[in-house]
Amino acid sequence: MDKPHIFITRKLPDEIIDPYRQYFQIEMWPEEEEPVDKATLQSKASKADAVLTMLTEKLDASLFANAGKLKVVANLAVGYDNIDLDAAREHQVTVTNTPDVLTDTTADLTFGLLMATARRIVEGEQYIKNGNWNHWSPLLMAGRDIHHKTIGIVGMGRIGETVAKRTMGFDMNILYHNRSRKPEAEEKFGATYTSFEHLLEASDYVVCLAPLTKETQKMFGKQAFEKMKSDAIFINASRGGLVDEQALYDALEDGQIKAAGLDVFENEPISAEHPLLKLPQVVCLPHIGSASRETRVKMMELALDNIKEVLEGNEPITPVS
Ligand code: NAP
Repeated sequence: MDKPHIFITRKLPDEIIDPYRQYFQIEMWPEEEEPVDKATLQSKASKADAVLTMLTEKLDASLFANAGKLKVVANLAVGYDNIDLDAAREHQVTVTNTPDVLTDTTADLTFGLLMATARRIVEGEQYIKNGNWNHWSPLLMAGRDIHHKTIGIVGMGRIGETVAKRTMGFDMNILYHNRSRKPEAEEKFGATYTSFEHLLEASDYVVCLAPLTKETQKMFGKQAFEKMKSDAIFINASRGGLVDEQALYDALEDGQIKAAGLDVFENEPISAEHPLLKLPQVVCLPHIGSASRETRVKMMELALDNIKEVLEGNEPITPVS
């Protein structure tokens, strides 16, 4: 009998893929950096039993409608806003993601971004490298404290909680907002549940870690930034779609908020000409929250194991609910 056919939408390392070749016929898009085009993805998905996708691919209703054999889509990310879940359900395709294995790594990066933004680490480095460091003054590159300040976490889930854990070493006061309360996080981290509006008003650092959904789309818009303190710092390590980037730019330009640290953008890759990138108080990264070598390997293996379970008729390890 023919082995089930998996299409992988990016070139992944052979040492990760090879052990799975005994079970599957595996075809990979040959590029490491360049994403697969939509037409090729549709055509490959129409013949595959499983597709392993990156968050750069949009899997819409037409893809599922034309993929008669497809049983499972394994997304190499915890977020799955790139996949039309209703269409997947309608066509009985299981969708899986890669939670947990990336939680600590993403929390590390989120807190690193907060520190870099607060203490002007990137600006300071550019200042030296541009040859501008020819004096010292008491307020040279003065940023703002992190310790003993208030952090407001919007989306106190796996990564949010792990960021909360990181902040305890900094004696921070923790506010959080979710749709539902998390008493165990309150007990573990001394976090206080509050409304979105109060969190915005009271936090020195507003950290966005909620998923991108219809409900959260552009939740950080003009009104949200107007509520924040004028010296507040905004960090987004979730998805760019939660932020109205024009409103963020205006808030930074008008001094409504102090600075921003961004790992994610509405359109990725963001153009180097984007006005946000011209602001010195913006620290930006190319969506590398979970990008440590160790974690990326674990994510790839979890995605492949999810496919294996489904194609062998078992429950997936980490289905998207
Ligand atoms: P998670 O455990 O599902 O946590 C998400 C949290 O957001 C939950 O506590 C949820 O609580 C809350 N939430 C959902 N809808 C909300 C709303 N409308 N308003 C307020 N809070 C809401 O997910 P996770 O593993 O921590 O990951 C969080 C997100 O981080 C992912 O969805 C992904 O987009 C992003 N991420 C980014 C990177 C990166 O590279 N930058 C890496 C990994 C993950 P309730 O259900 O109670 O509202």
